[in-house]
Amino acid sequence: MIGCSSNSRVKRNRSRTEKSIEKDIETLARFIQIFCASNHSDKVKSLVQVKGKTGEFLKHVSVSLCADCRRLLLHGAGKRITCPLDPKPRCKRCPTYCYRDGYRERIREVMRFSGAYLMRRGRVDLAIKYFF
Ligand SMILES: [Zn+2]
Repeated sequence: MIGCSSNSRVKRNRSRTEKSIEKDIETLARFIQIFCASNHSDKVKSLVQVKGKTGEFLKHVSVSLCADCRRLLLHGAGKRITCPLDPKPRCKRCPTYCYRDGYRERIREVMRFSGAYLMRRGRVDLAIKYFF
């Protein structure tokens, strides 16, 4: 009996973590999509479809990005999936700087741009999710 209930607790916790990863990755994808659509209109874009664990978390997200933004999204998604901290702190307050050089600056730029974009459009609810 006891073993049974503790098992289900573990399971619930894990799925909550996975849900939060999924939400974060969706938000990340949405922010990068806004940035890419507004700033890279001259670049060729394609639908982001990937396999593996990252693909699992991206399967509900449909975004079209240029090659650079796609790399940025996959880098960010990979880092989010392997984040050892649970609950994950906001990245700007996080003591571990997990983003590789270059990506960190770019993701900041994306978040600033898309956060402001959403605020201007009254999507404060989304901008609040601004987790970086
Ligand atoms: Zn782009």
